[in-house]
Order: sequence, then C-alpha cells, then structure tokens
Amino acid sequence: MKIIDGKAISAKTKEELRLEVASLKEKGVSVGLAVIIVGDDPASRVYVNNKKKACELLGIYSEEYALPAETTMENLLGLIEELNSRSDINGILCQLPLPRHLDEKAVINAISPEKDVDAFHPVNVGKIMIGDFDFLPCTPAGVMRLIDETGVEIEGKSCVVIGRSNIVGKPMSMLLLHRNATVTICHSKTQNLSEITSQADILVAAVGRANFVTPNMVKEGAVVIDVGINRLENGKLCGDVDFEAVKDKCSHITPVPGGAGPMTIAMLMANTVTAAKKQNNL
Ligand code: NDP
Repeated sequence: MKIIDGKAISAKTKEELRLEVASLKEKGVSVGLAVIIVGDDPASRVYVNNKKKACELLGIYSEEYALPAETTMENLLGLIEELNSRSDINGILCQLPLPRHLDEKAVINAISPEKDVDAFHPVNVGKIMIGDFDFLPCTPAGVMRLIDETGVEIEGKSCVVIGRSNIVGKPMSMLLLHRNATVTICHSKTQNLSEITSQADILVAAVGRANFVTPNMVKEGAVVIDVGINRLENGKLCGDVDFEAVKDKCSHITPVPGGAGPMTIAMLMANTVTAAKKQNNL
C-alpha cells in the first residue's frame, strides 16, 4: 500500500506555478485573484486564508473582500461587476456557502465566465461536460492529478464516485469519463452501494460522512481517493474513508488531511494563471 502524498504533489505543482508566474511577470503580465467572503463561517475563513497564503507564495496579487453577513445581493453583485471590469483582476471567487438570504446561483452567474476560477458558472460547467474546457473544476482536477501520480492507468478502468454534488461528484465523474474510464456515480438513493463500490479499480469518496467507506466496500488493490473533510467531536479532521481499516486493502490511498485538500488550492492557483494568460492572449 502506498499513501498518496497530496501535500508534496501540491507543493510540486505550486512550485511549477511560481516559476510560471515569475516568467509571466518578466513579460509584463501580472496575475491577480479577488476572493470574496461573506459572513464569519470559521471553515470558510480557514479556506480563504489558505488561498491568500498560496497567492503570496506564488507571487499572485490577491485582494480579499470580507463582507458582513448582512450584505445585500445588490452590494455583492455590485462588487462582482466592478471586479469583472478590472484588468488587474484575472480571477474572482466567492467563498461558498453564502448566508441564507443571498442567492448563490445568481452570484455564480454574475461572475464573468473568463474569471470564474472555481469553474462553477454554467458556461464553464457546460464546457466541462463537452470536454472543451478552459478551467478545470478545482477539487476533481486535483484528484485527477493525484491518480496520475500513482502511475495507475485510468483508461478502461472501473471508477466509482460516491457523491453527485455539482462541485465534486458530477464534475469528477466527467473528468474520469473524458479519460475513458467506465464511471458509476453513487448517491444517497443508490441500492447495494457496497456491491458497486467493491467493483471499483478507482474509488472516489465525496460524501461528507466520517469513516463512511469501510473495507467491505473496497476492492483488493484499488486506488482510493478520499475527498471528504469531516470534523470529529474531538476537533480532529477526518475523511469519508475509514483510513486505518481500509488502507491495507488498497494499492494507493489518500490521507485526510494531506490528500485531496491541498490539491484543490493548487488547482485554483493553476486556474488563476490560466485566466491571466487567456486574458492577455498568451
Ligand atoms: P454534498 O453534501 O453536496 O454531497 C454529498 C453527496 O454524498 C450527495 O450526492 C449525497 O447524495 C451523497 N451521499 C450522502 N449520503 C450518502 C449515502 N448514505 N450513500 C451514498 N451517497 C451519499 O457534499 P460535497 O460534494 O460538497 O462535499 C463532499 C465532501 O467533500 C464533504 O466532506 C466536503 O467537506 C468535502 N469537500 C472537500 C473539498 C476538498 O478540497 N478536499 C472540496 C469540496 C468538498 P444525494 O445527492 O442523493 O443527496
């Protein structure tokens, strides 16, 4: 069994991006990201801080807009409009979830597709569907990178994704399909879940339930990617996979933390660099 070191792979990816950002700077192109956070959700705050740190490390200019929880749609859409029109801001992201009174769909739709580095805008989602995309969805793209690092061929393999959310499960399945895997998507209404998952050569769990994937659900020698981030009562983070129980059955497995999480941020940075290059016709 090999543990897939998401932290190391993310660090390598970020170093490549740092060099690219530096070489763009030499050509007179700077890269800029605006991050909007509304309210004071502690998990969102951690994610936004990590994104800011990654920008600093890579030499990407970043601006943070921390708006109060009671912000109106009008104010939020006004800010997005202003950021859409600025040439020094190449990427815009609004940290989700938003407070209940705000319309998440309308906010996602307001971000210019060219600056939508999360790849949540329907235009970018559609492009992912047809396999002709500018921006990869960050978490699934990070997972693809992790699978590729194992050296395990994806083409022709049986891949099972547990979870069908718009930000993880669905785009994850699409990226695997584009690489010629045979993909099954499972969700809360799936019957005989363990029968299906135990056929998977590559199993991706994106459920949001601690220790949900147990050894009987895993095929001997499978690659297991754990996207879940769950906080236990003792404050510790854990994934969707019962790591200790499952690990000896796998050929490769990601830990939580230190697996898919760090890759998501690296892919966000990659999208921001892509956005800057496209906007500068490079
Ligand atoms: P959602 O809650 O949006 O989706 C969860 C999915 O799991 C749903 O499709 C749901 O099915 C399915 N599910 C729930 N219970 C079961 C069950 N008993 N059997 C089978 N399927 C089930 O979560 P997200 O996709 O946004 O996130 C999933 C996890 O990944 C979370 O822990 C989240 O924190 C983490 N995450 C990690 C990221 C990272 O950077 N590593 C980034 C984004 C998310 P149904 O559709 O039927 O309800």
